[in-house]
Amino acid sequence: MIYPIVKFGDPVLEKPAETITSFDDELKKLVEDMFQSMYAAKGVGLAAPQIGISKRIAVVDITFKEEPEAKLVLVNPEIIRKEGRQRGTEGCLSLPEFREEVTRAQRVTVRAQDANGNLFEHTGEDLLARAFLHETDHLNGKLYISHISALKRDLIKRKIRKLAKAGEW
Ligand SMILES: [Zn+2]
Repeated sequence: MIYPIVKFGDPVLEKPAETITSFDDELKKLVEDMFQSMYAAKGVGLAAPQIGISKRIAVVDITFKEEPEAKLVLVNPEIIRKEGRQRGTEGCLSLPEFREEVTRAQRVTVRAQDANGNLFEHTGEDLLARAFLHETDHLNGKLYISHISALKRDLIKRKIRKLAKAGEW
């Protein structure tokens, strides 16, 4: 099932999501639906709050279907190590059409559970590191625009308010 993507303005995007405690068939179905929804939206990462579900789960595939082993399921993820710095442009499916330069760690290790509840650690660099940070932020109710200047953030919010008024958001 493909879920519509929740856009900025919906409070579900700005509250911490709930820890997952049961690794049942329902969770596996949700994981599958999240991958489908992410691919349908042409994204390389998706957090459950972005489909209106306030649970600590995210899916990532920075190769966009090119490499099956690049499909990652992060349940209850935590960033446990950050090294270096990278600057790069970042966007978000919940803020379509906007992109901003965001400084992030260059190399990041995430500790998470898979869909069966098994704990694992995964270290990523560059885009993958950025995806780990971006998606984990989502589960903490944080969007990438919290990492840009207040001036740029206000400008984006103002544009969104305008779009919303015109019924285009
Ligand atoms: Zn996002």
